[in-house]
Amino acid sequence: MMPDVMIAEVAARVPDSLGAYRGSVAVGPGGPGARSLTALRDPAAFDATLAAFGAGFGVVDRRILVSYWSQFYFAALATPALTALVCLGRALPLAFETTSLELDDAGRPARLLVAADAAQAPCGVAPGLGGLVAAHLAPFVALCHGQCGLAPRVLWGNAAVILDHVAGELGAGKLGMELGRDAPACAEIAACLGRGAPPCGPGVMPLARALCPGAGGCRRRRVCCLRSGLPGVPSCGALCPRECGAGAG
Ligand code: SF4
Repeated sequence: MMPDVMIAEVAARVPDSLGAYRGSVAVGPGGPGARSLTALRDPAAFDATLAAFGAGFGVVDRRILVSYWSQFYFAALATPALTALVCLGRALPLAFETTSLELDDAGRPARLLVAADAAQAPCGVAPGLGGLVAAHLAPFVALCHGQCGLAPRVLWGNAAVILDHVAGELGAGKLGMELGRDAPACAEIAACLGRGAPPCGPGVMPLARALCPGAGGCRRRRVCCLRSGLPGVPSCGALCPRECGAGAG
């Protein structure tokens, strides 16, 4: 199936609760500001990509800035990627090596762009969330760590929080299976998020172990995401491992 056809099918299945990200994956080279993810391995290109986002926060620790920026990145990625897996039982062609990124006016990651011939690319994405981890999330975590020294476990925590939320909205658990979701895909996603049988493959473990049970049946981060170090950014609330609540950090 051509990527544009599959992306349209995915968009039609995104629930309204996740509607803000219905269009966050598209086909094409994008606008003049689009840049390939592999180009961000150049430190100058990475710094330029973060420039507009960082401008609003003044002088701050770069690791804090990258952690917060990554949360917008994972949000743009998670909804289309998981909707494809849960509702279609197939993976979008979102290999890191063939994907580009567009920012919004505030410098936040807004849209991921796949090449029109991405489905035929040799470095495609294997089925399941484990495939997305290997083909996209792991290289992205390595990129951010390499460019600023941010601990990978912070980035995996950011990814896990957002993927766990999106999976829940899509009904990727028992309810989803009752609703007719792709059952093997739901089970695999649950395992990769630490909610089911242990995932196979060591590459998925940093994601599967990123969250732990919190108060009231909620899940929370194992490590702080640092975002409270940015002026004007709200705390993580119930997700906080320090149970610091609003305003702490
Ligand atoms: S609310 Fe908690 S997890 Fe979030 S930045 Fe503050 S201390 Fe860290």
